[in-house]
Amino acid sequence: MYVVAHVDTSICSQTSCRLCTQYCPEANTILYDAVRKTAYVAVDRCKGCEICVGICDTLAKHHAIKMLSVEEIEDPFEMAKGSIPSPA
Ligand code: SF4
Ligand code: SF4
Repeated sequence: MYVVAHVDTSICSQTSCRLCTQYCPEANTILYDAVRKTAYVAVDRCKGCEICVGICDTLAKHHAIKMLSVEEIEDPFEMAKGSIPSPA
């Protein structure tokens, strides 16, 4: 099963935290949306290493990231935001 990180935006947006974005080993994969005030994952770039889960659980203590199989990802926004340039 191919799993990727998924941010619970309802939790993350209640924090002022961007910690996970500094630790993902893949460039431009877990990013911060200043409009929604939440981290999000570019699903098509995530390698499933789970480093961000450890950062959010252990360092940030917000427990906002879970690993999900790609079939479970319902929000196409996350994939589009990471792979398609936003309109100006
Ligand atoms: S570490 Fe957790 S709470 Fe902090 S920005 Fe990442 S997902 Fe949000
Ligand atoms: S699981 Fe790994 S590759 Fe995917 S967003 Fe988290 S730290 Fe980045």
